[in-house]
Amino acid sequence: MEVKDKPEIYVYGDKQLDRVEGEAIESLKAHCQQPIPDPDRWLAQEIQRNVLVTTVDGALNWARKFSLWPVNFGLACCAFEMIATAASRFDISRFGMEIFRPSPRQADLMIVAGTLTWKMAPQLRRIYDQMAEPKWVLAMGACAISGGTFAHSYSVVPGVNLIVPVDVYVPGCPPRPEALLYGIRLLHNKISKRSIVTEG
Ligand code: SF4
Repeated sequence: MEVKDKPEIYVYGDKQLDRVEGEAIESLKAHCQQPIPDPDRWLAQEIQRNVLVTTVDGALNWARKFSLWPVNFGLACCAFEMIATAASRFDISRFGMEIFRPSPRQADLMIVAGTLTWKMAPQLRRIYDQMAEPKWVLAMGACAISGGTFAHSYSVVPGVNLIVPVDVYVPGCPPRPEALLYGIRLLHNKISKRSIVTEG
């Protein structure tokens, strides 16, 4: 039968013990962290690297402009360009706007895309009134801006600004998706300048 060796028990003399302890301490010293030569400078650099300072307005506006939820308001041919803007090629979701809402209560941007008739105007106003504050309106295309080709028609509103306040106008008949995206970037700039101190 195999007999296992007993575990070795080290017994040091005083001198050996001092040497072993000394080696352990030297090893610890060699591998310990060095003191920071200039703690104030180090702290300033750490803060610069890890702390982001902004204003409440800056944070709020940043969140708002990249989470605009447009309400569906396609009225005529311009609506197809708005739909194309939301599709994969132009990809409006790059700006946090992938969720077109069917309900005005969940929307803060109205893109009026197309010809607004006087008969439709009360519905436009009602939907605008039902949207949550703060809210914005973008008039897309010649018809929404001024009535376009139908400006002098008995039935067409010569500009949606007669019914709701407009923040951005995107001209064209129809404007291309790039133009609509550019208009949205202009709206982002406008939102960036808001302040909770002055807004009502
Ligand atoms: S601006 Fe031109 S494309 Fe747009 S709704 Fe009017 S007629 Fe149609």
